[in-house]
Amino acid sequence: MYDVTVIGAGVTGCAIARELSRYEVKVCVIDRCSDICEGTSKANSGIVHAGHDAATGSWKAKMNLEGNRMMKQLCEDLDVSFRQNGSLVLCFREEDKGALEKLYEKGCANGVKGLQQLSASEVRVMEPALSNKTVAALYAPTGGIVCPFELTMALAENAFVNGTEFMLETEVLSVKKAEQGYELETDKGKILTKTVVNAAGVYADVFHNMISEERIHITPRRGEYCLLDKKDGGIVDKTIFQLPGAMGKGILVTPTVHGNLLTGPTASDLSDKEAVDTSAEGLSQVLDMAKISVPGLPVRDVITSFAGLRAHEDSDDFVLGEAKGAPGFYDAAGIESPGLTSAPAIGKYIADLVVEKLGIVEKTTFIHRRKGVIHMKMCTTQEQKRLIEVNPAYGNIICRCEMVSEGEILDAIHRPLGATTLDGIKRRTRAGMGRCQAGFCTPKTMEILMRELSLEPEHIRKKGPGSELIAKRR
Ligand SMILES: Cc1cc2nc3c(=O)[nH]c(=O)nc-3n(C[C@H](O)[C@H](O)[C@H](O)COP(=O)(O)OP(=O)(O)OC[C@H]3O[C@@H](n4cnc5c(N)ncnc54)[C@H](O)[C@@H]3O)c2cc1C
Repeated sequence: MYDVTVIGAGVTGCAIARELSRYEVKVCVIDRCSDICEGTSKANSGIVHAGHDAATGSWKAKMNLEGNRMMKQLCEDLDVSFRQNGSLVLCFREEDKGALEKLYEKGCANGVKGLQQLSASEVRVMEPALSNKTVAALYAPTGGIVCPFELTMALAENAFVNGTEFMLETEVLSVKKAEQGYELETDKGKILTKTVVNAAGVYADVFHNMISEERIHITPRRGEYCLLDKKDGGIVDKTIFQLPGAMGKGILVTPTVHGNLLTGPTASDLSDKEAVDTSAEGLSQVLDMAKISVPGLPVRDVITSFAGLRAHEDSDDFVLGEAKGAPGFYDAAGIESPGLTSAPAIGKYIADLVVEKLGIVEKTTFIHRRKGVIHMKMCTTQEQKRLIEVNPAYGNIICRCEMVSEGEILDAIHRPLGATTLDGIKRRTRAGMGRCQAGFCTPKTMEILMRELSLEPEHIRKKGPGSELIAKRR
């Protein structure tokens, strides 16, 4: 019997689990995927939104503001890449200046600090690569960028070292009320739990509707992206948005925390909750729209493309709190953008509800800091020398594009909740994320996985079951 079972090991579920791990409580996080962060949390813009977009008074606005405030300290504590680079919303037509003014007013009403309306010449001084058709912009100095995988993994690892159990490759099939809480049927057996936290991303409506008469409905809204080479990461310094429309915040151009340039996302409503494929139309729309903001965007430098699914609930807001008619069942549903920004705040809000319900007490032994994988590339020459002296594997470069050493890959495999797949190594170390997109390092990384985890070649997977790279010779 668990005190709390969290369905979903995305950024929302991991943030909630990490907050709960401050307490004397038996918590389990379940995910059907083979690793942390395999859902929407791995495929988004990585923006820490300032908070001027969401409707004033909505959950999105409240959690966005609070999450934005919490992010810097959290990233420091958990050793996660974060930069407060600021953001600009561009206006290209005189007649749209009223909409920009409204956005400014909404931002002020939401409590966003430091917002400024800039003239065309002020914007150009700030960001010389922007279109000379820009007539005005809204500047938000509190906007930032974060690595979404690092954040999610760091939250999970920290929850794990503080006693949270993780059950990966375990699919929850149903949730029903039981005598002392809830019974979860999974493909690995039954789980009894006093309370449930529903953080199942695009599937959160399915679980909510199993136990509450008040229905919710989530539409997967796909967003497609192009990622450009690191040599273009400095074309803009701030995150560049266009004026938002009915389907969201439009196409942005932003540097990433690791120095690439990212552009996207599109927005198309679908019925398939697994449709994370990209399309020729979607990607050309991304590049065409991005060039409106940054006309000189070097589209030939795209190194990869990807898509993620927003969990858009019909109410256009997050669904947070105890579900109606289901005491002890807590929703963190409809967590679309700004869900990444909001995760720290949602984590605290939902954990506080659970703590109050269960009447549990804080631990004295909570470890609030975590150290990530050492990145050789970020070390000084002296530090690199010292690392190689202690462990020569740090001198063996496996991924040449991102300069990732064998030592880093070993750390990724053997750390808490370590990597067991190629994607797991990629998201923990960046091996395979560079210009050649794993063309060079895949065989070497496979060899390390085989050796360290005593696996046969045909058992090495890119991600979950069915993604094996090598077929067994008959
Ligand atoms: C295109 C796009 C751009 C975005 N950009 C930003 C941004 O810049 N800034 C920002 O703040 N937010 C952004 N977001 C929103 C942000 O990415 C999400 O709000 C956040 O990642 C949601 O996290 P989650 O943990 O709720 O969901 P997920 O990450 O999807 O996690 C849900 C987990 O539940 C698991 N699960 C589902 N069903 C089951 C089951 N039956 N059994 C077991 N496990 C199950 C899944 O495997 C998954 O791992 C963007 C989203 C998209 C799609």
